[in-house]
Amino acid sequence: MTGPADRDLRRRAEAVIPGGMYGHQSIGLLPDDYPQFFRSGSGAHITDVDGRRYLDFMCAYGPSLFGYVDPGIDAAYVKQLSEGDALTGPGARMVELAEGMVSMVSHADWAMFCKNGTDATTMAMMTARAHTGRKTLVLAKGAYHGAAPWCTPRPGGVIPSDRAHQQSCSYNDIPSLEAAVAAAGDDLAAIFAAPFRHDAFVDQAAPDPAYARRARQLADERGALLVVDDVRAGFRLARDCSWSRIGVSPDLSTWGKCIANGHPLSALLGNDRARTGAASIYVTGSFWFAGAAMAAGIETLKRIRETRYLEHIQDLGETLREGLAERAIAAGFGFRQSGPATMPLFLFDEDPDLRLGFAWSSAMLARGVYVHPWHNMFLCAAMTPADIQQALDAAEGAFADLKASRSSLGPVGKMAFLATR
Ligand SMILES: *Cc1c(COP(=O)(O)O)cnc(C)c1O
Repeated sequence: MTGPADRDLRRRAEAVIPGGMYGHQSIGLLPDDYPQFFRSGSGAHITDVDGRRYLDFMCAYGPSLFGYVDPGIDAAYVKQLSEGDALTGPGARMVELAEGMVSMVSHADWAMFCKNGTDATTMAMMTARAHTGRKTLVLAKGAYHGAAPWCTPRPGGVIPSDRAHQQSCSYNDIPSLEAAVAAAGDDLAAIFAAPFRHDAFVDQAAPDPAYARRARQLADERGALLVVDDVRAGFRLARDCSWSRIGVSPDLSTWGKCIANGHPLSALLGNDRARTGAASIYVTGSFWFAGAAMAAGIETLKRIRETRYLEHIQDLGETLREGLAERAIAAGFGFRQSGPATMPLFLFDEDPDLRLGFAWSSAMLARGVYVHPWHNMFLCAAMTPADIQQALDAAEGAFADLKASRSSLGPVGKMAFLATR
């Protein structure tokens, strides 16, 4: 059960918001005791509307990289806001930010800014089609690229022509990639790739360098563009495009979530080959040239370049991973931790309907630690070794609770989303 303020807001939301809530905040995706509504965030913590404070391993589903309400980054935002945000045209911040991104991301020669990751992935699709004069995209099954009709994971309101000209492959499976490219024939516009497999409900997987190289080679052979969708993982694996770690340069990369530490900003970056195509598409938005989020982005990039935030979150993530593994083994659970240490996903063995995952997550929540039972999580630089120790202590208790209640657990609540996948 959530608190009274949360229950009241849920009841009122049901009347004035379709379905009570939508998208990744839809009702029933998380255990029933998870709060829907929050009052505030600070550093690594969030406080729900009933005043309960949690160590937050979701980081707003990615945007919080240096912690919530970061004083330095928010000061840059507020300063620009006080001088003017959305004006009749862009300001100097836009060019400075483009210079900053291009100097940090090795494959990139130019940048375009937008608001959501979906804007950036849609612009990548349009740029590739404009560049090649062709239509077909190769996408990995189960990979998330946003919530526009061409890519949203749910069928409501989507018509077959929205999804035309797409071939699917399996991530890290070279023969399936080759087959999808072959099926595209002489119409291949782009191969899209997640920087690693970070699909919901399944173990995450590192990119096989041979798969990444083959994608690069196939795109080159066909004159198509290679796109790495770094909206989620960008700057949590590298201070560059995530595939720089395996030596593969895309033509386009898409960015969002944390690049302005919680302020609305996303980006499409590209190389000179893709420049003419990118210049030919008409894309824009009323708020795309607003300066405040860009000022926050400039400050965030500076922090990325000048601090050891990445090594810090990697160290914390490894401590968390090792500590959880020990505690799971001691309690006798098959507990799978996948993905990079900075973006972990937890799944239990022998848990097809997620009842163990839901119960364990609820037990963590009751101990003040907000984890997710089926989506990857995120570490942020505001976390400390003491926070990780708190999470490990909570996990020890949560595993003990689960051991005691295991045989009496029923199926989890309204998992309509899972059931209809
Ligand atoms: C979140 C996400 C998107 C979409 O970003 P929005 O800002 O939610 O539109 C695209 N690709 C990936 C990999 C994402 O994680």
